[in-house]
Amino acid sequence: MGTLICKHCNSTIDHFEDEKVTTLYSQCSTHCHDDDSEKE
Ligand SMILES: [Zn+2]
Repeated sequence: MGTLICKHCNSTIDHFEDEKVTTLYSQCSTHCHDDDSEKE
């Protein structure tokens, strides 16, 4: 059982089948905690 986690907000994005228990980090949305973006 693998889990895909947002590296910015630690939200669980998705789960996937895997032989091992694995955690992968990704981004839940394009603009999630985008430090490089200008603030509104
Ligand atoms: Zn996020």
